[in-house]
Amino acid sequence: MRARLLFLFLLSSFASFIAARPVVRNIQSAHEFDRLLQKHGTETGLPVVVDFYSDSCGPCRMMAPIFKKVAADYVDRAVFVKVDTNAQYELSGRYQIRSLPTFQWFIAGKQVQTEVGGIGEQGLRHHTDGILRRAEIENVVITLEALEEFYQKADPSKTDVASVLKKCADMTKAKGLCAGSAANQLARKLRKKYGSMPKMIPRFSGEPPKPETTEEPPTQSSSSSSKQQTANLHLATLEELQAELEKRQDQLRDEMVEAEDANEDEADPDFTPWTPKSYPERVVIIGGGPAGLAAALYCARAGLDPLVIAPILGGGQLQGKGVVVENYPGLIGESTTGPEIVSKMRKQAAHFGAFFEDDVVVAVDASQRPFKVQTNATGTIETHTIIVATGAESNWLGIPGEWELRGGGVSSCATCDGFLYSNRHVVVVGGGDAAMEDALVLARTSQSVTVVHRRDRFRASKVLADRVLSHPAITVRWNTVLQEIVGKELPTEDKSDSDVDLDQIPKVVTGVVLQSTESGETEELACDAVFVAIGHTPITGFLKDVVEFDPAYPGYLATVGTSTQTSVKGIFAAGDVADPTYRQAITSAGSGAAAALDAERYLSENGLGNEAAELEAELLAELMGNDDATKSSSSYNVYEDAGGRVHGVKESVTGGEL
Ligand code: NAP
Repeated sequence: MRARLLFLFLLSSFASFIAARPVVRNIQSAHEFDRLLQKHGTETGLPVVVDFYSDSCGPCRMMAPIFKKVAADYVDRAVFVKVDTNAQYELSGRYQIRSLPTFQWFIAGKQVQTEVGGIGEQGLRHHTDGILRRAEIENVVITLEALEEFYQKADPSKTDVASVLKKCADMTKAKGLCAGSAANQLARKLRKKYGSMPKMIPRFSGEPPKPETTEEPPTQSSSSSSKQQTANLHLATLEELQAELEKRQDQLRDEMVEAEDANEDEADPDFTPWTPKSYPERVVIIGGGPAGLAAALYCARAGLDPLVIAPILGGGQLQGKGVVVENYPGLIGESTTGPEIVSKMRKQAAHFGAFFEDDVVVAVDASQRPFKVQTNATGTIETHTIIVATGAESNWLGIPGEWELRGGGVSSCATCDGFLYSNRHVVVVGGGDAAMEDALVLARTSQSVTVVHRRDRFRASKVLADRVLSHPAITVRWNTVLQEIVGKELPTEDKSDSDVDLDQIPKVVTGVVLQSTESGETEELACDAVFVAIGHTPITGFLKDVVEFDPAYPGYLATVGTSTQTSVKGIFAAGDVADPTYRQAITSAGSGAAAALDAERYLSENGLGNEAAELEAELLAELMGNDDATKSSSSYNVYEDAGGRVHGVKESVTGGEL
């Protein structure tokens, strides 16, 4: 009796909320996830899209708003959920999550597609569209009546029609129904044999999903239904009360998530959307890491309205650093991980007037002035100056097994994926600061960490190297290289009973083949993951034949003297693209500031970038009836006015088009 009263009391405290399906639900338990798959697999037919993430993973944090944005667009057609892999071990183990973020798509409770890494908005939409088409194809059912009608025409001698239907139904997740891929399979077989197939009808109505609640909004009529429900609950068994309580707890959680979502969605007043202008930009900054963002801050504070072009996941190597950054002066404490620093830098630059465009630059045309910057999505943007701050991307070993096993245990991001190898054996390759940091991060959770380095000493800073060498869980294999990464397919189960589409499962790492650089001998070392940290290569390919490269350091841009200017006046280089030596977040930010100062000086020395103010003055003069000003605007040429100091084809900037 006391238990009944307690349940009734708890239920009454949940009585007055309305729950709609949240845009993105954060899964709190494996049980909740299973119920969700069951519900959408058997009641609504909606595909389920899952984002397996961790808070310490930079790319996961950058994908989170994209996931939410896409979820909002597909809210009536698919269900979007998030699973925190640090909290939901059972689910990350069951779905073989080996790299973060991982996105998985489910139809009828079955996992049908997996994508690993920062796949971006386009990737997420592309795969979701594909899954929706697949779900559409699977949204069929063959009834006994339809099958009997079919056999009557195609093969009247067939008597055991019910057993054919049962075989099909046994292959379907929702037992008792010949539906989905099993129904399609049966239809295909029959068409092959008889040249026609049974009638198939939609399994799900296609109506938008009902709210996941039994409660009505608190109107007059709802209060009476709520009273009625309360009355019914008094008659309910303990089990029914418990089920009802669980349901209402879920609904409350959804509400809280929605409230959180609403707060997050409030537009940040510092970020003003960029719109193309009818005159060139003063400064275009390519890259959104510390160099690009420091340049943006300085240019913005100088009133140059800089435009930063970088993919939303761009934040450089600092963005991927989930560990606390200890060596950025002035930043102390818990909230100084790479993504947090990048996010604050963006906000600070935007606050002073920098614009951001989520795009990728594919080419630069410096044969004419203003320069033309060609992007992937926005098109061509004209600008008087360019600051190149595209940073560098991770190097890979290029050995057998490395490519095939990416996402199956081979990774370049220990802070993203390390946690997935808790209590396992992992290998780190490299001897620089990045390898040391990776080894130390992994040593917190993995059973053993083996650092494989090709020489007999590290190039890393002493403080990090000493920490690695004195850590009890870390072993170093000196003078050793990796020859191959070996893996195996996951154990196969009976396909029809599996929740997982086995074609989707990658091979997983089981070990590495090591070779001594001294003796040449090889041996196999068993391990579950390999983290490659062997340096980076500057992202400068799009500038080939545009500016000069440093002959001593392939891939790095050459700069003039101690300035940030490249071989082309008006194009400046900041951060890792021109720094083969220091390559720190702080030195990148410093060179970003220097590039901004160089660009500002170049613009003012050459009298460039005043079009906005000049056109404004001309328009004003025109309005005031001053004809001379209008005449001069039609022949205005900034490069002519620069007195020949700037080389390149001259282009007219007309005020008449405004
Ligand atoms: P890095 O300093 O260039 O070190 C790369 C390491 O990988 C080197 O030990 C190198 O060996 C090894 N390596 C290169 N190619 C290899 C190959 N094919 N096979 C096996 N080993 C190979 O790169 P990083 O560690 O990524 O660091 C990049 C920059 O960022 C550095 O300036 C670093 O100081 C900075 N960083 C700083 C921090 C920090 O301050 N907390 C953290 C991370 C990175 P060798 O030594 O034999 O050349």
